[in-house]
Amino acid sequence: PINESKYIWRNGEMVPWAEATTHVMTHGLLYGTCAFEGIRAYETPKGTMIFRNDAHAERLMYSSKIYGIGIHYTKEEIMEACRRAVRENGLTSAYLRVNAYLGYGELSPSATGCPDELDVIAFAFGRYLGADAVDKGIDVAVTSWRRSAPGTIPAGVKMAGNYLSSRLITTEAKARGCTEGIGLSHSGMVSEGAGENLFMVKDGKIITPPTAASILVGITRDSIMTMAKDMGYELVEQDIAREALYGADELFFTGTAAEVTPIKSLDGITIGTPGENPVTKSLQDAFFGLFDGRTDDKYGWLDPVEG
Ligand code: PMP
Repeated sequence: PINESKYIWRNGEMVPWAEATTHVMTHGLLYGTCAFEGIRAYETPKGTMIFRNDAHAERLMYSSKIYGIGIHYTKEEIMEACRRAVRENGLTSAYLRVNAYLGYGELSPSATGCPDELDVIAFAFGRYLGADAVDKGIDVAVTSWRRSAPGTIPAGVKMAGNYLSSRLITTEAKARGCTEGIGLSHSGMVSEGAGENLFMVKDGKIITPPTAASILVGITRDSIMTMAKDMGYELVEQDIAREALYGADELFFTGTAAEVTPIKSLDGITIGTPGENPVTKSLQDAFFGLFDGRTDDKYGWLDPVEG
């Protein structure tokens, strides 16, 4: 169940949660023309902060541009809508879902006469992959579904329709008793999780698939890569063969919802030494430290909702 909050920011106004409904002929519903973002706001010792608000606004504008969805707000106005949605709901921490989509107006994939809609929904949200996933790790499966190939539906932008692939991957993984699934790229190399980027640690080196492997270029991925390099780790973006995953010392997922979550088994095979994930732990410490004050926000990633 969703933890409903009081108001939703809708095209510039705060409307009651129950009234934020839409017509069944909405273009975004009929054809998937909805760019979106998932963002987290954390309670920190310095107040509630939205993590990388600007990067999310930028990615939303980028996704919308490719599909001809107009956004009639500046980046700063989108960021302020996010702050306002958290603030006016009295939330101290939140998950935000921002939708930019084509509304009701015309029946055709090439429609140019639909209104551009923008919604920001902020609500209370806990751990995505289970209460102890971040500490204990999760069981994962490489599923039979491939991620979309280059030149088809672009995996590198965040559109609602892309999550048809995620649904197939994660549903198959759950049917096999796992918490989350991985998709391979069209060429058979490792791509990413249904809603997470994937990292592998081998002999102290950190490896993650390149953007060409049909991944969404995650903002958490970028944050972890930046911090890992600052911490002195050797980090490479490089194609990973499926079999290399089973020989990894550590595997972990990153994502706004998933945060930094270790993978303890893959296809029933134990990864590394159970309970020992020194590299993942050090990155988790750095990441979660941003929110509890142990890590200095030297990157300027925290955006206060109180302005
Ligand atoms: N890949 C996919 C398919 C996702 O849905 C997400 C979650 N948005 C990610 C990666 C991670 O991206 P981010 O860190 O920006 O949330």
